[in-house]
Amino acid sequence: MDQLIFISILIITAAALLYSFWKIKTNFDKTRSTAFYGQWVKRTQLTLQVAFGQTKILRKPVIGLMHALVFWGFMVITIGSLEMVIDGIIGSHRLFGAWGMVYDIISASGDIFALIVLVGIIAFLFRRLVMRIKRFKGIELSRKNKTDANIALSFIMLLMLSLIGLNVYETVQFGANAIGTYPFSGWLVNTLHPAKSAGLYAFFWWMHIVLIFVFANYLPYSKHFHVFMSLPNVFFSNLKPLTHLPMMPEVKKEVDLMMSDNPYAESDGPASSRFGVKDVEDITWKNYMDALTCTQCGRCTEVCPANITGKLLSPRKLFVDIRQRMDEKAGLSAEDAKALVGDYITPEELWACTSCNACAQECPLNISHPNLIMDMRRYLVLEEGQAPEELNAMFANIENNGAPWKYSPEDRLKWTEG
Ligand code: SF4
Ligand code: SF4
Repeated sequence: MDQLIFISILIITAAALLYSFWKIKTNFDKTRSTAFYGQWVKRTQLTLQVAFGQTKILRKPVIGLMHALVFWGFMVITIGSLEMVIDGIIGSHRLFGAWGMVYDIISASGDIFALIVLVGIIAFLFRRLVMRIKRFKGIELSRKNKTDANIALSFIMLLMLSLIGLNVYETVQFGANAIGTYPFSGWLVNTLHPAKSAGLYAFFWWMHIVLIFVFANYLPYSKHFHVFMSLPNVFFSNLKPLTHLPMMPEVKKEVDLMMSDNPYAESDGPASSRFGVKDVEDITWKNYMDALTCTQCGRCTEVCPANITGKLLSPRKLFVDIRQRMDEKAGLSAEDAKALVGDYITPEELWACTSCNACAQECPLNISHPNLIMDMRRYLVLEEGQAPEELNAMFANIENNGAPWKYSPEDRLKWTEG
């Protein structure tokens, strides 16, 4: 009977999760493709270093170590979650126990990590709710964003409490026949002397697995979706130097034609429908992946010189806005009159960027902001003719004089006179 109930819940969970992934895939389908250069070895190294090794997170030693421990703990605990799913389907009890000493090591690490993650999550909640860290504030973070962060952290806290409860009752219920090793839970048993209870063992087992299922389905709608997205996002990082500005192929094609022997010939291929980025259909799949991965940690905004000096720009906001706009568009039956640039992200924000790349350098998930800002500026300039006055003067000089200065090319050698 238990197996039947478990399999039914599993099917509902998987169906709901697939539906969420299908919705996300349809959003990806709307985005532009972008060139992807293999370099598998380099990408794997980067993923090991930045995602698994948490090297960028560890730049802030104390809070970085806490986050890294939570991440590593999750990875170990996931093995136990997988075992629970198999146990639930086939009706076994701690199936991986057959691994002997390896299982003892995994279960002992999982038990200790459950405590570490619990302490880490309580500290994160304390920072958010009591210390009110500046990094977690910003115009882009609505009450909904803040509630989302607290809900996700509460989920993890309950997950760890139920896991510890399960380990405690594994030890109490099965005594010498308990499968696995549980140092922290064993210590709790010796200290608290809880009575045997098959009911409480079953309660913690079901509580833990149901929380995993509900949390997995909550993630695609949360900033904590980075649990799924961070590894692939780091793997598909931009491997070029941060200062590299990708060329616009549509513009290059026109320039090549102008410089050719036959500048009046028709250019090949279809005319470009958009120069730069106006709305979410113009972003690349990697930009959207960045938005789904963003943890809203604010490390980018914290180091942004524009933001620090009181400008409107917050690099974190770009990705919060992309995600919101994508969700908004997914719910529309017909085109609306709004756009990402203009209605969500204003020209004032975009022109405040100094292209220093501090945000991309600091982002623990290798999200790239400056190129996206450049693409939005390209749209403003090439399609809307909206550039700051200083730039308009420079563009006019380039057009008329072939140089950014206001002097005529005929006067170029005047400095040699006399
Ligand atoms: S590149 Fe732009 S958005 Fe990023 S930190 Fe520098 S000024 Fe801020
Ligand atoms: S873009 Fe990166 S640094 Fe900025 S809030 Fe998102 S995850 Fe944090």
